[in-house]
Amino acid sequence: MLELVNRGYVYRAIPISDEVETYLRQCFGADRKMYNLHVAYLYDYLEKKPYQIGDKLPSLKQMGMPTVSAFKKQSVSDDHIAYLYLVDAFASNEAKQHFNKAMTAFNKIASKKQYKKAALKRQKTLGIEPTFRDLKGMPKFHSRKGSKASYTTFNQNGNIYIEDDILYLPSAQKSSVKVVGLKLYTHRPLPQGSKIKNVTVTMNTKGQFDVSICVAFPKQITSIGIPNRILGLDYSQSHFFVDSEGKKANYPHYYRKMKARLVKEQRILSRRVKGSNRWEKQRLIVSRLQNKVANQRKDWRLHKKAYALSNRYDMIVVENINLRAIGQNKHYAKNQQDNGFGNFRLYIKYKLEHQGKYYVKVPKNFASTQLCSTCSHKNTALKGNVAVREWDCPSCGAHLDRDINAAFNLKQYGEHYTKDEILPQIVVA
Ligand SMILES: [Zn+2]
Repeated sequence: MLELVNRGYVYRAIPISDEVETYLRQCFGADRKMYNLHVAYLYDYLEKKPYQIGDKLPSLKQMGMPTVSAFKKQSVSDDHIAYLYLVDAFASNEAKQHFNKAMTAFNKIASKKQYKKAALKRQKTLGIEPTFRDLKGMPKFHSRKGSKASYTTFNQNGNIYIEDDILYLPSAQKSSVKVVGLKLYTHRPLPQGSKIKNVTVTMNTKGQFDVSICVAFPKQITSIGIPNRILGLDYSQSHFFVDSEGKKANYPHYYRKMKARLVKEQRILSRRVKGSNRWEKQRLIVSRLQNKVANQRKDWRLHKKAYALSNRYDMIVVENINLRAIGQNKHYAKNQQDNGFGNFRLYIKYKLEHQGKYYVKVPKNFASTQLCSTCSHKNTALKGNVAVREWDCPSCGAHLDRDINAAFNLKQYGEHYTKDEILPQIVVA
């Protein structure tokens, strides 16, 4: 079967001239400026309304939020931000979508009326009452400092292309920069017949550029037929995952070493006076190390672990859990791993499906944690009780490890799935 496959490729890239670099920085700036214009309008609106803590934010329409082009027009009268016209139009449009996302995310937790820690501290020590601006998740101004800068642009009639290892991006009509090129450091080429859909340019805190190129390409996929090797994969807060063979995903040694160093540098940062030169210097060290740790972790998970698993097994069965809900549950400590598992799952799915193998997500009502993998008794006492790591089945007496038992149930689901869903199809064919 010939299928159209989407995939992203990330390359380190260097702008072909100083002029291009300036243009890219302007695009980042426009994205940030457009976002901040939305935030400023929102704050202004909420102050006038006035806003009741706990309420959801109104829609853009209800607020009478100006359109992106209206914001651009306003900016012309103010010379400082006329550059909104000099950059890629997509940079500003993306900003509006990001703002909308931030609003939606806030509305989900608005009723919790949670303030940021710093605001509560200020209230305690200085007696300053927190306002809606201090609410957790409230869209806030993006600052130029400290954050990663980026913008995304989309291919229209082939205005994004690669020639001789140089990636060409669209410019803006009014910009004096006509050719926007970035030299790519291609460690692996794009697949045959690739069509570029969009490109995200990012600049890290070191001022280095990366481009993430999203492409679609045709791929021949042949089903492997009946899966022989089936693996259940249970998400674990402490071990990242536990599989049905009792194996845990153990981070390699080099990763733990880096993590220890990061903790040390963060401690130094916490002792310095916020905003001072020494603080700023240390902040850079921490931010670079954070980047490095995140990259190492991601690389290990995706390119080593997910790759190995999807090569070794014919079918991988995972829970149908809402990772975002877990991240918001206060009983779980904020755990960076939560962000990674979604990507990990997605990567395994692609890797398996491209080989004609199976990725199975169990239905939401399948209680992988509560079922006894020996006798199928459902132990509802475990529901929501994350503290219990081991238990004895009240029905058959089996002694079970919470995570391994869950992974085993997932594997058993995969075996049933093979019998009920895959076998009949193969017999018919
Ligand atoms: Zn049992």
